[in-house]
Amino acid sequence: MLSESTSSVQPALSQVPSALTNEIQGHQFALETLQKAFDRKRLHHAYLFHGPEGIGKFRVATVLARLLLCASPLKESNPDQSQDVALNIQHACGQCKSCLRVKPLINKSEGAYHPDLHYITRERDSSGKLAKEIKIAPIRELQSSLSLGSFEGGRVIVIIEDVDRLGLSAANALLKTLEEPLENVHFLLTTSSLNAVLPTIKSRAQSLRFAPLDLKTMQDLLLKVERTQSQNDVEQKDGGEVLSFSPLDEGQRISLAQLSGGSIGRALDLWSQGGMLKVENLIQSSDLSGGPQDILNALAFAKSLESAEEAELKQWIHILRCWYRDALVLMHNPQASELFFPRLTEFSYKRAQVLGLDRLLWRLAALDECENHLFRRIGSNRKLIIETLCLYLAGLDTLTQKALKLS
Ligand SMILES: [Zn+2]
Repeated sequence: MLSESTSSVQPALSQVPSALTNEIQGHQFALETLQKAFDRKRLHHAYLFHGPEGIGKFRVATVLARLLLCASPLKESNPDQSQDVALNIQHACGQCKSCLRVKPLINKSEGAYHPDLHYITRERDSSGKLAKEIKIAPIRELQSSLSLGSFEGGRVIVIIEDVDRLGLSAANALLKTLEEPLENVHFLLTTSSLNAVLPTIKSRAQSLRFAPLDLKTMQDLLLKVERTQSQNDVEQKDGGEVLSFSPLDEGQRISLAQLSGGSIGRALDLWSQGGMLKVENLIQSSDLSGGPQDILNALAFAKSLESAEEAELKQWIHILRCWYRDALVLMHNPQASELFFPRLTEFSYKRAQVLGLDRLLWRLAALDECENHLFRRIGSNRKLIIETLCLYLAGLDTLTQKALKLS
């Protein structure tokens, strides 16, 4: 399954369903902080929005940008005050020339950009794969544009997505710009990997933490996407390609919301790749019982993972970890209802009985060990690690009677 997918955990902007592009759900703390800063006319010249992937940091940045550029924000909450006090996340007018040109940033197919809104992210190649880093060229372009001042005489907003992915020379160039803040220029930087952001950049921006969305918000959003889709039938990608979400029953919606750990981006990604049915099949095919045929299956399975992107491997490990957790819960309480995969209850319970406590714990430890070697250590042998993990999941733990240790 994993080798078939080319998308990362966070969907391309053009793939975000329209039901999710016009409003913000959750993130009360971040919104209130921004609101207060604006009310006091103390909006920082650079913000660093950080939190897990796909939870809405970019959306908040865009809505904020739209509001900051809006020619006539609605002022219901502060009727007697100046325009500057009208920062209320719901109150960009949505009608003015400015608003209409920021909106297309969310859906590129709708039209042109606002000339005073700069958006920088990693490039995608023709197959949709994201480049590893942001190169220096767009930063240089930004600098020369900023040196000319605002095109329309108002604020200039710069959104940089995944600022942790700036290449070293790009980061150094950006640093110079951040060190000498220009009047009316606001930087909105986002990252899902705060530790990977250069400390020098971190120190020049105000950090704002975004928490994962709660379960109820996730379910509401998923339901909304489904309803919008049934109205519009399908969502269109940039090039007119159809992105489709298969209908979910309530159990699948709960599973998807729980499995995604508060990240609507991750949920949409899983959903558009074939939904919970595919995830459930993946679990069943990854859980091998240890016969000689399974060893061969495990090696074949490992081979299919070799070309997977980092995000896909992380997702696979995450799915399995959630499933082993279900098995552990069911082992102690067969009636348990708080499961990641309620539709697999019977299968999970039976497997828990066969595997027993030690092997479930060893496999969870094997997933941790494998993840640690794959993503946190430099120079690890990726092929060997994936192969060892698959063999372990296929029953090598039964033979060794111990937890996996790769080093
Ligand atoms: Zn407006």
